[in-house]
Amino acid sequence: MKNAISFPAAGAAKWEGVLGNTSRYIEARELKNRALWAAFVNEFRVQKDGERNAWAGEFWGKMLRGACITWRYSGDPELYEVICGTVEDMLTAQDPLGRFSTYTVDTEFRGWDMWCRKYVLLAMEYFLEICPDDGLKARITEACKKHADYIIEKVGPGEGQIPIVFTSNWWGGMNSCSILEPMVKLYALTKEPRYLDYCRYIIETGGCAYGDLFAQALENKTLPCDYGSDKAYEMISCFEGILEYYKLTGEEKYLTMAENFFRAVRETDVTITGCCGTHGEQFNRSAVNQTDPAMTGVMQDNCVSVTWLKFAGKLLALTGKACYAEVMEQTAYNAFLTAVNLPEEEQPFDTYGALLLSHRGKSRGGWQPLAAGGGYGCCQCIGSAASGLMPLSAVTWNDDGVFVSFYEQGTAATPFGVLRVETKYPAEGEIKITAEAEGTFALRLRIPGWCRRCALTVNGEAVKAEPGDWAVMERRWNRGDEVRLTLDMETRVIHAAPGRFEVCQRHTALRRGPLVMARDLRLGEDVMLPARPLEKDGAAEAELWRNESFPSLVSLAVRDENGGVFHVADYGSCGKTLDARSLMTCWLPEEDYLTPEKEEFCICGEAGYIGLDPDGTCSLKNKGTLFRARKTGAGFYRLESEDRYLRCGGYALAWSEEPGGEESEFRLISDRGGKRYIANKLTCRLVKPNFTDGQVMCSFEPYKWILK
Ligand SMILES: [Zn+2]
Repeated sequence: MKNAISFPAAGAAKWEGVLGNTSRYIEARELKNRALWAAFVNEFRVQKDGERNAWAGEFWGKMLRGACITWRYSGDPELYEVICGTVEDMLTAQDPLGRFSTYTVDTEFRGWDMWCRKYVLLAMEYFLEICPDDGLKARITEACKKHADYIIEKVGPGEGQIPIVFTSNWWGGMNSCSILEPMVKLYALTKEPRYLDYCRYIIETGGCAYGDLFAQALENKTLPCDYGSDKAYEMISCFEGILEYYKLTGEEKYLTMAENFFRAVRETDVTITGCCGTHGEQFNRSAVNQTDPAMTGVMQDNCVSVTWLKFAGKLLALTGKACYAEVMEQTAYNAFLTAVNLPEEEQPFDTYGALLLSHRGKSRGGWQPLAAGGGYGCCQCIGSAASGLMPLSAVTWNDDGVFVSFYEQGTAATPFGVLRVETKYPAEGEIKITAEAEGTFALRLRIPGWCRRCALTVNGEAVKAEPGDWAVMERRWNRGDEVRLTLDMETRVIHAAPGRFEVCQRHTALRRGPLVMARDLRLGEDVMLPARPLEKDGAAEAELWRNESFPSLVSLAVRDENGGVFHVADYGSCGKTLDARSLMTCWLPEEDYLTPEKEEFCICGEAGYIGLDPDGTCSLKNKGTLFRARKTGAGFYRLESEDRYLRCGGYALAWSEEPGGEESEFRLISDRGGKRYIANKLTCRLVKPNFTDGQVMCSFEPYKWILK
């Protein structure tokens, strides 16, 4: 199978809006950092990951993939030179057995070893796609074959081999099975049958020890969060492999699997900002859980955002369907942009996102110390894949014409000629495209699905355009022909879906064009207060507003139902201090459900949830949840939950190794005497682990109120 669309040659597209600028910023700040590349390669020489079942070995391949995608967009000679240098360096780190591994032979094939080896193989293949040097290509291909052959010899279904799903104690081995993607590419590269056999073997395992991911996706009856293991990033990575296998074989059922999986995730597990997972990094019905006041902790992982965006990008390339570009846009402008750190921060990307009365910077996901000094994180290494892919994918083409998927000021050289785009999108909805081309071809513009009204003209003549699809203009184009697209930029009011609790539904959000809006404490207003935008025909009354507090793409003054005004900025620009100074919320509580004045309020467990017993002990379970607390005569609070999606097992174990020694964090939001209080670091100490009923008993310290 060929891709349905082709991408521009390196340097053939030049974009000057937020997508192009972000790509250039990451290229300069992270991808040209030679010391960082050297430190990543060094991990393969010292081989320390096996001591802690760690994953520093993923950094090199993951960032190199992003660097290759970024170079395919920018064509920057210095970047190419840096990439080439680190590839040469890595070739010298292959051990005599043919392994590129950060685990020693004694510790290999456990933890994240296969995952890290996957990234080396995948990145080498990404580099082969951009490398013009036949000699170097031959050396890399030989190295990749040796690397893969060692794995094939040791890991498999035969006697004395380790089944691939048992090469990791994490996530049912989904991390290991995602090596499917580079194995397919290796077969495509070499045509050596053992690699194809190995791909078939991986697919037959189902990708996970706890449930066959691929069979369930084909059957399309189970939600991805219930496939067996729920880790979003690793599971999406397995389906990237399935798409690669489809591309190789053309067997329709593999595309069906991937598209079914995509649709199910989009419907049930994607949040308003385009990420998945509102509890840690796992699929967990985020579409309904995103307004759950208990889910305000570590959530919305950047690795998930980027992998989801990339998966949509692969589907777009294979099928040419506009819906995949729509998903890329949602994730890129919201979940992804908010994770891009300001230059003054130590790291180029942050890890976890905030949706409801929370802040960024809560933790750095996937952090590992480096033997060369310092440390790095998984979410930092992955970012450039998204910042490179968006501008690369903005204008593409097939045999009969051009696709414009994303709108940004700049130019793209295509085989049909140059297109010049003039726009301030996504801040404004006016887009002018001038053809600096002559000839007959189809020009397709993506009309975003969020748009209710749009107008499209060619040289002033109206053309049909339907939101959610391509508007196709097939005609003879002359130099200077002008296309104008106007998208409605009204501020839409989004109502929350019903969730676990009645309170989940009592939230609204604002979206202007593709940009989700959020309140940020730096705008000078109490973001904990309820806000009810005045709504008319699905839209809010909102005006562009000059935000003096921090740079933003769009800031708005929004009229509320009481005749007052509150202020919001685009979500991607919010939360940038990575701490409580930019406490933020994009879901707006419609009323103050967190007040204890009526002897009743809500308590949220960030990492687990608690139930308080009259003897002063608590039950601690595995999932974040929301409780209503009612004061009892004995001075205790009785906590009640309306949880409908309760599942036990798993997390409590992590806290219970040492009775009395482990602490967990809880969060209380309250309102006493008209003042706002937050206790974010409330600790809960375990005293009596008891797994018989899926609960852990623990003591509970008095609430420590912190005045905000
Ligand atoms: Zn990560």
